[in-house]
Amino acid sequence: MSVAENLELIREKIKNYPQVNLIAVSKTIDSTKIIEAINADCKIFGENKVLEAKDKWVALKSQYPNVKLHLIGHLQSNKAKEAIEIFDVIQTLDSEKLAGELFKEMQKQKKFPEFFVQVNIGEEPQKSGIAPSLVKEFVADIKAKYNFNITGLMAIPPADEEPALYFALLKKIADENNLKNVSMGMSGDFETAIDMGSNYIRIGTLIFGERQ
Ligand SMILES: *Cc1c(COP(=O)(O)O)cnc(C)c1O
Repeated sequence: MSVAENLELIREKIKNYPQVNLIAVSKTIDSTKIIEAINADCKIFGENKVLEAKDKWVALKSQYPNVKLHLIGHLQSNKAKEAIEIFDVIQTLDSEKLAGELFKEMQKQKKFPEFFVQVNIGEEPQKSGIAPSLVKEFVADIKAKYNFNITGLMAIPPADEEPALYFALLKKIADENNLKNVSMGMSGDFETAIDMGSNYIRIGTLIFGERQ
């Protein structure tokens, strides 16, 4: 199946949910296939590694300036410069230290991306993200200190559990903090995520096939 055919199937499934934005996750996928998706009307892409994203997207963005790029992988403070250069939305804000480095780069580059806070929704020690009970304080601190444009939350639920309750919890925390965007749901669980209130689904495999 082609990228365009895969997209058609996904769009068919989400056509009754006009609030849902489809993020095509193009990590490890080369520019030729990304362009197939752009030509099939994909407008939002997600990458999880800053340097890989820069390698591909400096050229792609100059060719397709209306496409938006979201960072969906962990961001180290020492890559703040490159992240501000290339991403329109950073979904993985997860520490004060990172916010401080991003703030400096934003002033230097005069570029002001939108932010989602990553939440460690299953409180898993190996995952990054703010603990659910600390989101309110974190969002308030970062807004007060840096005035970031934080518009949403993002999370990846624990791999081997039923995700619905985690999705519901993320949506609840977003509502409590008046954040309109909720990024949750991947190839295997996006329909559940939409039922629970997701408005940004992040789909890789179903669009581009299995990654190497
Ligand atoms: C890779 C990735 C996805 C896409 O996963 P698929 O199962 O291929 O759809 C979504 N979100 C994040 C954070 C990812 O790293």
